[in-house]
Amino acid sequence: MKPPAFEYLAATSLAQAVAALANDEAKIIAGGQSLVPMLNFRLLAPSLLVDITRIPGLDAIEEDGGGGLRIGALTRHHTLETSAMVQARFPVLSAAMKHVAHLAVRNRGTIGGSLCHADPAAELPGLALLLNAQLKTTQRTVAAADFFEGALSTALAGDEILTEIQLPALPPRTGWGFEEFARRSGDFALTAVGATVSLSDGEVAEARIVVIGADDTPLRASAAEVLLTDRSGIAAAAIAAQGQVSPNGDLHGSADYRRHLVGVLTRRALTAAWRRASGTGGEAP
Ligand SMILES: Cc1cc2nc3c(=O)[nH]c(=O)nc-3n(C[C@H](O)[C@H](O)[C@H](O)COP(=O)(O)OP(=O)(O)OC[C@H]3O[C@@H](n4cnc5c(N)ncnc54)[C@H](O)[C@@H]3O)c2cc1C
Repeated sequence: MKPPAFEYLAATSLAQAVAALANDEAKIIAGGQSLVPMLNFRLLAPSLLVDITRIPGLDAIEEDGGGGLRIGALTRHHTLETSAMVQARFPVLSAAMKHVAHLAVRNRGTIGGSLCHADPAAELPGLALLLNAQLKTTQRTVAAADFFEGALSTALAGDEILTEIQLPALPPRTGWGFEEFARRSGDFALTAVGATVSLSDGEVAEARIVVIGADDTPLRASAAEVLLTDRSGIAAAAIAAQGQVSPNGDLHGSADYRRHLVGVLTRRALTAAWRRASGTGGEAP
């Protein structure tokens, strides 16, 4: 399939890109890894594509001074996977990137594009929720928790550009786990679960669990998070996470099968996070 005809603008500044988006039929293109297939399938027919990849300064990864990171929206998946700064501060993010498609796609796709595309089975929207990301746009800063509104739907206005992803530091002694099940390596997840466990004096100071691919948006399994007061709570938390999702069934797996996966993957992700936090196996971040 070929895309419908469109005009093309390679913007060199955010102001130029925002001005071009005043045209209702304009659409941003970043890595093109989600947009181009949608054009080719004729699911979209914008009259103008505004390429933001030549705008300087949108692909930097910088320390925020408090142990967190500011990640430019044009940062590629592969950079998140290999950056020493990301690996040191948010190893769960680097680890999750290995599950995104194949290297060719990871070399082109951007964090901003993945968040704005908001595929319910994509890893990065889930990671943004897990890591309490703040998303900076050309108009405001919005919490990841308020950004994803439905499948392929976000709080972004038509002329708003995501510019930066701000990740606050994780607490000390935080361990992490990321577990994904896909039918083949590189396929979109049937379901994935990310978790962090933060310990203080042997007690759980905080537990976070995000479930990906089992609802219209990624979900924080808040009912499960509060059950993790010690290691023996992992099984109960996994059952609670299962109860919190409303998956759809499709030819890849029924709703019941996906719900089952949520329980299994939550148990595995929490166990890995616990081990890393407590130093009983696996590296602690
Ligand atoms: C074969 C294949 C397999 C894939 N497998 C996976 C997978 O397993 N997991 C996964 O997560 N993804 C997967 N993807 C999708 C891939 O990760 C995309 O790169 C990503 O979803 C979109 O990033 P992009 O930079 O390519 O965005 P684009 O395709 O350029 O844009 C996507 C959408 O976001 C908008 N947009 C882009 N940047 C911005 C911005 N800064 N501000 C506002 N709006 C913006 C665009 O207008 C468009 O609507 C796969 C893609 C392919 C082709």
